[in-house]
Amino acid sequence: MWTTSYVRKSGQCWKLVIAAVLLFSGGILVAIMASGRGNNLEPGTFTTVLLAGLFLCLGGGLAWPAYSIRCRSCGLKLFWHALSARPHHDSIEWFLLVDSCPGCGATR
Ligand SMILES: [Zn+2]
Repeated sequence: MWTTSYVRKSGQCWKLVIAAVLLFSGGILVAIMASGRGNNLEPGTFTTVLLAGLFLCLGGGLAWPAYSIRCRSCGLKLFWHALSARPHHDSIEWFLLVDSCPGCGATR
C-alpha cells in the first residue's frame, strides 16, 4: 500500500504535494476568471491572470511532476509512465501504490 509506494520510499512525495498545490491553486485562478469575477479587470490583466492560472495548473500541476518524478536507478518518468502507459482508470492509483520501478525493478 502507500507505505511501500515507490514514490514515497524514493523521497519524491514533496514533488507530488507541490504539484497538487499548484494544480489546485491554478485551477482556482482559472475558475475565478471563468466565473466572471475577473470581468472588471483590464483586458490585459485578465488575460495575464488567466494564462498564469493555466500555466500553474498545467505546467506546475501536470507537466512538472510528469518530468521530474523519476526512477532513481534508470530515470524512467514514473508519473508520465502512469499517465501514458497505464489504463486511464487506474493510472493515478497505480502511480501512488506501485512499489517498484516498472522499468528496472528498483524498489527505492
Ligand atoms: Zn527504474
